Amino acid sequence: MLGKYYLGTCIQIRMTLIIGGGIGGLSAAHYLIKAGKKNIVLLEATSRVGGWIQSIQDPKTGILFEKGPRTLRIKGNVGSNTLSLIEELGLENKVKPITMDHPSAKNRLIFVNNKLHFLPSSFSALFKKTPPFSRRLVNGVWKDLTSPPKKSDDDTVYSFVERRFGSEFADYLISPMICGICAGDSKEISVKFLMPGLFQAEQKHGSVVKGFLTDMMQKGKHENDKSEALSKLSGKAKNEKWSVFGMDGGMSLLPEKIKEGIINNGVDVRYKSEVTSLSIKPDHVRCCINGKDFIESDYAISALPAYNLAQLLKDEHSILSDELSKIPYVNVAVVNLAFQGKVLDKEAFGFLVPPSQGLPILGVIFDSCNFPQGEHTVLTVMMGGKWFNKYFGDNPTEKRLYTIAVGHCRDILGITENPVSHHTEVLKNCIPQYVVGHHNRVDRIFSYIEDKKLPLALAGSSYSGIGIHDVILSGKRAAESVLNKK
Ligand SMILES: Cc1cc2nc3c(=O)[nH]c(=O)nc-3n(C[C@H](O)[C@H](O)[C@H](O)COP(=O)(O)OP(=O)(O)OC[C@H]3O[C@@H](n4cnc5c(N)ncnc54)[C@H](O)[C@@H]3O)c2cc1C
Repeated sequence: MLGKYYLGTCIQIRMTLIIGGGIGGLSAAHYLIKAGKKNIVLLEATSRVGGWIQSIQDPKTGILFEKGPRTLRIKGNVGSNTLSLIEELGLENKVKPITMDHPSAKNRLIFVNNKLHFLPSSFSALFKKTPPFSRRLVNGVWKDLTSPPKKSDDDTVYSFVERRFGSEFADYLISPMICGICAGDSKEISVKFLMPGLFQAEQKHGSVVKGFLTDMMQKGKHENDKSEALSKLSGKAKNEKWSVFGMDGGMSLLPEKIKEGIINNGVDVRYKSEVTSLSIKPDHVRCCINGKDFIESDYAISALPAYNLAQLLKDEHSILSDELSKIPYVNVAVVNLAFQGKVLDKEAFGFLVPPSQGLPILGVIFDSCNFPQGEHTVLTVMMGGKWFNKYFGDNPTEKRLYTIAVGHCRDILGITENPVSHHTEVLKNCIPQYVVGHHNRVDRIFSYIEDKKLPLALAGSSYSGIGIHDVILSGKRAAESVLNKK
């Protein structure tokens, strides 16, 4: 029976609570509704949904900036799942693909020794000596084929890649890539979690290259089965060789459209409803909103960052809270810049800066090379991450961050003009760091919930993948666990 909700009172309500209106919480609601579930309340602390997905438009110039994600890769089953979701939302016509032959798909740059270098992007490049690499890349491949495997439960991405392919692969290919993926330090990030394919290849086949060759042969055998399982949009993406895609009007369209769909199907989305305390007993959930109103339900999905949930559970479930609080997060300063006219002399996705170069910027995305915006050049400078405090201290002003970003665009890209529009923001604790041991920690977190028979499911980027695709899938899995319990 569904009760009513009154301010300042506590009413027994049989329903599912979803806490957090980022893409994880919204996806969980979408999949619950799709399975026919009713009586769902979604609580969001701020006045908007989408969490870190936020597209903003400059009202004067109409220029679109993305504060968070802007493009999504077409990646395996998780990518297909997102494309199916996009179909379910009727957003097929809003998808903006970038095909494999586009310059931004082919050209990726790194900034090393005060110079921009194109990263090798073809098979033939393996056999050439391309700066900043001092040796041909094929030497790294040979090293992987001939180096003995190291049996281990986990390793840092850096030491794994250094061991298999050599230090230049680790310094120039992988370390900047880790900055691009999670603004993190490859000397801390878990290879088992972030690159499970590479890690398993060594564990199973003794070498990454051998593992990939074996996988490719097996994939060939099952090619027909897979293409049958693809949604219409995934099939299109495959046929047209999409590399990544964005959304017309900005990435925020995705959470906005999910929100519209769930509200139309009866989900009670409550803004400015911060969960300030949470009690989870085996037979019910009790939660306090904004320190004054209480709501009870028979199941909860937490789509909060782990550190938020840790805080809420610290008295009642201290062991769980302790594990959750040990998942580290980093701050990223995002500086969006728009210049009049074409100010870049290279077409590429952008460039990344390996940490060994000692610069405060993680990289620069050439947004308008991905998706042109009239006569403007639009760039996003990402800064800080794991090294935020080292370069900027606790509380840098936006002006300082903006000045540093513009200075690096001038020094590295030779842009002498001033931006015609810009936006600077520090995204605090925005990206979880899957450090060595993350896999085991997540196992312990999920086991605790199962062993104590808590009516709680977890979604969001803290546990099983930090990309949008992973987070959407985490929402689906959380919804399934609610449906399976009932
Ligand atoms: C700068 C940046 C760039 C990125 N680029 C990419 C990319 O290119 N591709 C990609 O795939 N991914 C990218 N990501 C990652 C991706 O955006 C995130 O992993 C994803 O958006 C996280 O979603 P979430 O729902 O788990 O969490 P969040 O977005 O953090 O949502 C959590 C929600 O919970 C709410 N909340 C918090 N506390 C409470 C409370 N007590 N009560 C109620 N509500 C609460 C918050 O307000 C928020 O709305 C990027 C992330 C960042 C920060």
